Amino acid sequence: MPASARRPFRRPTHIPPTDYDVVVIGAGCAGLSAALVLGRCRRRVLLCDGGKTRNAPSPAVHNFLSRDGIKPQELLQQGREQLSAYPSVELRESCVMQAERDEATGTFRITLDTGGCVTSRKVILATGVMDVLPPIDGMRELWGVGVLHCPYCHGYEVSDKPLAVYGRGKSVAGFALLISRWSKDVVVCTDGTAGLADHSRQRLKRHGIPVYEQQIARLVGRNNGELHSIEFADGTTLERAALFLHPEQQQRTDLAEQLGCYRLARSGGIRVDKRIQTSVPGVYAAGDTTPAAQQAVVAAAEGVQAGISCNEQLTREECA
Ligand SMILES: Cc1cc2nc3c(=O)[nH]c(=O)nc-3n(C[C@H](O)[C@H](O)[C@H](O)COP(=O)(O)OP(=O)(O)OC[C@H]3O[C@@H](n4cnc5c(N)ncnc54)[C@H](O)[C@@H]3O)c2cc1C
Repeated sequence: MPASARRPFRRPTHIPPTDYDVVVIGAGCAGLSAALVLGRCRRRVLLCDGGKTRNAPSPAVHNFLSRDGIKPQELLQQGREQLSAYPSVELRESCVMQAERDEATGTFRITLDTGGCVTSRKVILATGVMDVLPPIDGMRELWGVGVLHCPYCHGYEVSDKPLAVYGRGKSVAGFALLISRWSKDVVVCTDGTAGLADHSRQRLKRHGIPVYEQQIARLVGRNNGELHSIEFADGTTLERAALFLHPEQQQRTDLAEQLGCYRLARSGGIRVDKRIQTSVPGVYAAGDTTPAAQQAVVAAAEGVQAGISCNEQLTREECA
């Protein structure tokens, strides 16, 4: 550790005293990257993590430059190991239950499930989202291997295999046509009335994509989590190697609401400005929790940007 990293930073008298400069909530790609930048800025950081990341069920992370194919857990582990080189960053396995802003001082009070509260000058929300899967037998069990959401992440691994796309209406037609880039054997399963406009049906037909409107009874998997077949309620079966769908999503926490962030996307994503700051001063958001593209490397990049923005704002306040 360079001697300069050990030298205590003298807080200017006009800066309110807090336990930390920044509390980063969530230690996925976004939160780890934010904490890394802030650690390198010698900021006092608390990084809290209260569970698994969104891609935990997946065997591999793809599209991450220099890390293509790495196990999700291994990527996080490497991130945590590299953070441990920065002594001003503290990592706690702890879920943040409550966050509030003191309007008088502009500081934050964060309540942890492990008991106790901490205070900070800035907060970064990197809490991600959760996927809400349709209640079909087998869907949850095969999620991440035989049931997939993103062809950019996992399409290559099921190239040229028999594939299904689950959904209804206009969006399923576009999604099935996209998936046909990876395989010529694609079907649409609507699990009930398709809700497809005539021109969507014709487009699918022109590209050799049949539509199955029967209700799905269950998905049958293999021991390794791959999909074997789709069983319909009418007793028929269709062998498929993978099923793609765009599940509903929910924010992992209501911390943004608690803090008063009011600029939200229709999806519930927390809108940020070009400095990655939310509608509440001092609250930043990065990763899947914002409406940007949901990719691990994008989350990491947003985390870096949030870390830089926090440090620059803190510096402006200190050097006023
Ligand atoms: C099955 C699957 C496979 C995927 N594969 C790929 C891929 O191959 N390539 C790719 O680029 N992307 C992939 N993704 C997308 C990728 O997982 C996300 O874009 C990425 O994880 C987003 O990172 P994040 O840090 O924003 O959120 P997350 O990784 O979800 O991390 C959020 C963290 O915050 C924690 N947290 C939540 N609430 C609290 C709280 N109140 N207190 C403390 N901690 C909290 C969570 O426990 C979690 O650890 C995949 C997604 C899924 C679902």
